[in-house]
Amino acid sequence: MQNGDTSVEQAEIGLIGLGVMGSNLALNIAEKGNKIAVFNRTPEATKKFYADASELQGQIIPCETIEDFVAAIRPPRPIIIMIKAGDPVDQQMEILKPYLENGDIMIDAGNANFRDTIRRFDTLKDSGLTFIGMGVSGGEEGARHGPSIMVGGTEESWKRVEKVLTSISAKYDNDPCVAWLGNDGAGHFVKTIHNGIEYADMQMIAEIYGILRDGLKLSAGEIADVFGTWNKGRLNSYLIEITEKVLRAADPVTGKPMVDLILDKAGQKGTGKWSVIEAQNMGVAATAIEAAVAARILSSQKDEREAAEKIFGVPKALAAPADKQAFIDDLENALLAAKIGAYAQGFAVMAAASKEFNWDLPMPTIARIWRAGCIIRSQFLDEITSAFTKDPHVANLIVTPAFSKMVQDTDAPLRHVVSHAILSGLPVPALASALGYFDAYRRGRGTANLIQAQRDFFGAHGFERTDGVDKPHGPWGSGLDIFSK
Ligand code: NDP
Repeated sequence: MQNGDTSVEQAEIGLIGLGVMGSNLALNIAEKGNKIAVFNRTPEATKKFYADASELQGQIIPCETIEDFVAAIRPPRPIIIMIKAGDPVDQQMEILKPYLENGDIMIDAGNANFRDTIRRFDTLKDSGLTFIGMGVSGGEEGARHGPSIMVGGTEESWKRVEKVLTSISAKYDNDPCVAWLGNDGAGHFVKTIHNGIEYADMQMIAEIYGILRDGLKLSAGEIADVFGTWNKGRLNSYLIEITEKVLRAADPVTGKPMVDLILDKAGQKGTGKWSVIEAQNMGVAATAIEAAVAARILSSQKDEREAAEKIFGVPKALAAPADKQAFIDDLENALLAAKIGAYAQGFAVMAAASKEFNWDLPMPTIARIWRAGCIIRSQFLDEITSAFTKDPHVANLIVTPAFSKMVQDTDAPLRHVVSHAILSGLPVPALASALGYFDAYRRGRGTANLIQAQRDFFGAHGFERTDGVDKPHGPWGSGLDIFSK
């Protein structure tokens, strides 16, 4: 363990928190040739981490006290804090502060709420210290071998860490999946929306699985074959790849398909919910993400669902379509169409937040750094990168030339699949909400004229007329008359 002897070569970076993510990230940093100092609240974890680091030990300076840890890092010191999100981060920052000097950078790499990141950034603003909020995606594997990294903070602090972060990030065709995205909370905001899109992507895949399982009555192995084929086409992605693997896996105890033995109650940690809340805060319709979060909530209400099934039964499914393969092809296209809706919504939320917080978020760069390392990595994101590179300020992804063509090509299959599922009583809330979003977004004259009339009737809220005449109220007298009858 380090004892404050500064004659040894100083570390390029420090890391606090040797849990699952922190220890893997530290090994990745060391393996890429960067000297790193590490510290963990519980020193046993530091000792074990160092002992297990075997050939990478030469790159690691394990420290037992914060004082030794700080002294082991080359100033200005970048210090990654990879611990439990929330209050522990504030506590850890308070412990660190007295040991730091002007220019040192505290980097929160956990799943923070970006509003906390903005607060932490502002708190340090005049102290001489700086703060980076850094979204890291890719789970344990990503942290160890190359995550997608979304950085928010000052450009100057980014310059100090750019080399190390570039060395450890995932690469897509040699292009590093790390970028500085803007000031204060930009990185954590983008990570939050990444997770919101991930929720929608997973929910849509699960709904398609439900149609294959309960509509077409395919076995887990047969559904694995379908996803395996799709992974070679337009849907090629990490989530489709692992879906095939999951569906193929057998339970070592019973030999049955593992997926059939897993309780249908999905967990969540909060980033999906934050995405929905922020979409609402920004006034952006993110219906597919909302549907996905709501579906996880309903999934967790297992007892209530079972009780309701006893009352209502399960609707009788339509007969499976005569041409099964044609229907499976429609499912593939429907999934692609709905996925376009979810990504369009996620990017629209980021565009609105970018304006609200003056981040100037670079949309092509965000799509680019999500192409590898993160959970939603896919070929599809390469197509989004191209679309945003050609038109970075487009109002909505679905009106770019490439994606509007895709939407037109997949519109009929999505309509067919959603209507088949609805008539069969199979729940497809995310697919249906993506379809509803398209139908509302592309209709020049909707039905909100009636809502405006109702609002004016009961609340005298006024409306704009289609003919430009300046008469903002309707001929209904006082809507409150109803109470005098
Ligand atoms: P772990 O539970 O594996 O590790 C938690 C770490 O936090 C430990 O090092 C623990 O130290 C430390 N810690 C907890 N409370 C405090 C405290 N009050 N003060 C100082 N240290 C504390 O968590 P993960 O590594 O999975 O997650 C870390 C962060 O990364 C979280 O924000 C998480 O949301 C985020 N993240 C996780 C991903 C994942 O796939 N797991 C993916 C992306 C982000 P000690 O050993 O002393 O208890």
